[in-house]
Amino acid sequence: MPALQPSAFRAAIAAAILVLAGTAARAGDVEPGLRLGPHEGERVVALTFDACSGATDRRILDTLVAERMPATIFVTGRWLARNAEALAILEAHPDLFQIENHGARHIPAVTDAPDVYGLPTAGTLPAVMAEVEGGAAAIRATTGREPHWFRGATARYSRDAVAAIEKRGYRIAGYSLNADKGASLPAATVEKRLAAAHDGDVVIAHINQPHRASGEGIAAGLLALKRAGFAFVRLDDVATEARGEAVVASAAPAHRASKAPPPVAAVPAALPPGE
Ligand SMILES: [Zn+2]
Repeated sequence: MPALQPSAFRAAIAAAILVLAGTAARAGDVEPGLRLGPHEGERVVALTFDACSGATDRRILDTLVAERMPATIFVTGRWLARNAEALAILEAHPDLFQIENHGARHIPAVTDAPDVYGLPTAGTLPAVMAEVEGGAAAIRATTGREPHWFRGATARYSRDAVAAIEKRGYRIAGYSLNADKGASLPAATVEKRLAAAHDGDVVIAHINQPHRASGEGIAAGLLALKRAGFAFVRLDDVATEARGEAVVASAAPAHRASKAPPPVAAVPAALPPGE
């Protein structure tokens, strides 16, 4: 076998490094953290709710409206197509609700694993961006507004997807407190988790599961936070800072770097399509 020329040798080394880098990336998908920036005065929490697919949890939405609690709602194109009445309520309260992009069809923005929690992933960067652009198009068509925050299904991303989405001009909507673990937790547990929020937390919960117990706990937890003196803001109302990125192995349960207890089962932050 002939010896490689120096240039060919360097190319072979470069190719080997690329392969290794690809291997490393597969074990390094991320769940980005997000917290509010430093502020003075009252304790503040940003409420964010995912509307993945399915219906609308009026226990939560009606509480937000009745108590005048601002929130950021991440909607999919799929949810928008089925929830005209809820969208009308969101749009009737522009002082309360900021509508942002949760994708077109609730497909995880992951390119290096076939699925996350059983949800088939986008698989390629073009498919990731089709999900992003499709979600934006649905929001434009129904609200006339251009979203600028993105949260992918399951809130987990491959690093190349994060780079591509940010290059498109989006900020990635991480979180610091997972209140309902994909609307999977009992009401009392959800209430306790939400009521334990700290100043500056960005809370993630779900507003599309009216038939699960979690929503009852969200409504109760919101009232508890209000009683405790918290104020509520949307992501555009205050400075935010990415913090506490959790590196996770592909297609494995989330490992949160926070003080929150580990999940008892592989429960997605978001919900499978069709739910
Ligand atoms: Zn979701």
